[in-house]
Amino acid sequence: MNAAVIGGGYAGIAAAVTLAARGLPVTLYEAARTLGGRARRVDRAEAALDNGLHILIGAYRETLRLMRLVGADPDRLLLRMPFEWRIHGVLSLAAAALPAPLHLLGGLAGARGMSVSERLSAARFLATMRRARFRLDGDMSVASLLRRERQAERIVRFLWGPLCVAALNTAPGEASAQVFLNVLRDCVAAARDASDIMLPRTDLTALFPGPAAEWLRARGATILTGERVVGIGAAGEALSVRSAGSERRFDHVVCAVAPHQVASLLVAPELAGCARLIARFTYQPIHSVYLQYPGDTRLPAPMLGFDSPLAQWAFDRGALAGQGGLIGVVISARGGHEALSHDTLARRVAAALRQALGALPAPLWWQVIAEKRATYACTPGLQRPGNLTPLAGLALAGDYTAGDYPATMEAAVRSGVAAAHALIERRHRDATRRARSV
Ligand SMILES: Cc1cc2nc3c(=O)[nH]c(=O)nc-3n(C[C@H](O)[C@H](O)[C@H](O)COP(=O)(O)OP(=O)(O)OC[C@H]3O[C@@H](n4cnc5c(N)ncnc54)[C@H](O)[C@@H]3O)c2cc1C
Repeated sequence: MNAAVIGGGYAGIAAAVTLAARGLPVTLYEAARTLGGRARRVDRAEAALDNGLHILIGAYRETLRLMRLVGADPDRLLLRMPFEWRIHGVLSLAAAALPAPLHLLGGLAGARGMSVSERLSAARFLATMRRARFRLDGDMSVASLLRRERQAERIVRFLWGPLCVAALNTAPGEASAQVFLNVLRDCVAAARDASDIMLPRTDLTALFPGPAAEWLRARGATILTGERVVGIGAAGEALSVRSAGSERRFDHVVCAVAPHQVASLLVAPELAGCARLIARFTYQPIHSVYLQYPGDTRLPAPMLGFDSPLAQWAFDRGALAGQGGLIGVVISARGGHEALSHDTLARRVAAALRQALGALPAPLWWQVIAEKRATYACTPGLQRPGNLTPLAGLALAGDYTAGDYPATMEAAVRSGVAAAHALIERRHRDATRRARSV
């Protein structure tokens, strides 16, 4: 038995590690030169950047487990902080040193920038959702749910709204309330440390894909970067995987490319249903604006929110990763900023930071990275395909397959692990059935 994994993003790497851990020889195909997919290092002349600034949370248990398994120590590679929600000059809320769920209620009680009635409004929402076990009878938009629960306008604007955009990369008016509640259930309403915020202290390739590739190679896996797969087909009991350089046969194939990349690989007639489901997806962008200031420039916190559509969150890469004076700013989801040239966008983001923070020197250089299809739009009732496909031996993995979470690293990793287990178990079942019938 051997296995191929197509796609070296977090899902594909998680699948490869899971298959190799079960003793299978694995070949990993990645079209790009760098592993990591939508969470990868981007080497620029001025500095090593990431294609996007990423936040992890304590609830990312599978990501943390696999990091540990491959020797990427989360305690060293991530800055872990108790949950803190800080919109500069507007609102700040920090988890209290109490067990869950009192940590958040205590945080609300001690929050700055919220009236008593706003705190009660947020606490009532959490209590009502907890009583309903974070389940809705029918999905709806986050905005509709917040209206139904009569949430105070400022709490929607500065807490639930930005939380929804940060987690689902979809505006509250379009975002799935059920997926939003899944995130609340597992992060802010679960064990205290599940809500911890974890910020990478290294680039996103070195965070997990790099150490995982080393771990895989040490177990005999073949990692083919710069190798694009152009076709997957049935070949008797096995599957054939065609790339520009070769055609090889595998017993198991995990297709772990992004949903907008998968259509050309799902051409077998058995896969028409999966392909149709994925073709209905729409996508949302994320823009990352890197501004290099003089080396001693610091933000008041490693991660800081702003009441500005042009600077939702800013990250101090000096404090986090030793890249002194480098500030990374995230703009999630669609918006007017998409129409701006990168230079204009960078200038306006720098102006927005200056307006919020006061004196800031002019940036020395800037770099904008626009991921136009950063994630699928996480809309109410969106149907997502499962891991197993009707083509024996082929499974799908990625942040977009059916699961509780929106498109995140954790969704990708869980999907990769689940796809690997599902394939092995299906083969096992088929073999047992055949043996019984003989
Ligand atoms: C800018 C940005 C910011 C984000 N912020 C966060 C965040 O803060 N927290 C969080 O949890 N998540 C965040 N996400 C989401 C997260 O990065 C993704 O959900 C996750 O990385 C998806 O992983 P994946 O493996 O499913 O897909 P991908 O990362 O897209 O991996 C697919 C891989 O397949 C490769 N490939 C495609 N076609 C082929 C082919 N034919 N042959 C071989 N290889 C192929 C691609 O090159 C790619 O490497 C963000 C995403 C972006 C873009």
